[in-house]
Amino acid sequence: MIRIGTGYDLHRLVKGRPLILGGVSISFDKGFDAHSDGDVLAHAVIDALLGAAAEGNIGLLFPDTDPAYAGADSLALLRSALDEVKKSGFAVVNIDATIVAEAPKLNPYLDEMCTKLASCLEIEPAQVSVKVKTNEGVGPEGRGEAISAQAAVLLEG
Ligand code: MG
Repeated sequence: MIRIGTGYDLHRLVKGRPLILGGVSISFDKGFDAHSDGDVLAHAVIDALLGAAAEGNIGLLFPDTDPAYAGADSLALLRSALDEVKKSGFAVVNIDATIVAEAPKLNPYLDEMCTKLASCLEIEPAQVSVKVKTNEGVGPEGRGEAISAQAAVLLEG
């Protein structure tokens, strides 16, 4: 059986917070205003994984009202989500994701994001695609108020 899932996430950017995407620390003067580390790429992939397995969503698995997840490393959350879908007998075939960010320039970080996500999900970097685009200066991403990410995941089991 093969199953497809999609995920989406957005967090606001604020001064004085680290910017982490796909588990990679990005040099920038703003970061995510979030309960966890706010890694929208990891969060979109988590929702795509859980969606493909029809096992709910990130908010059900890791409630942002739970102090256990304050400042949480989102790759650890992704690993837990993988464990959930593995319990149901699924393995990841591939991931394709898009980050929407006006700034900073993320292209230099994409290979490292793929490597980190692949390692976390026990697959090869070639099974992971992370792309980035601007929002043409419009909307919250375009105005630099937020960064968002979308992901599609294919599972087989
Ligand atoms: Mg989130």
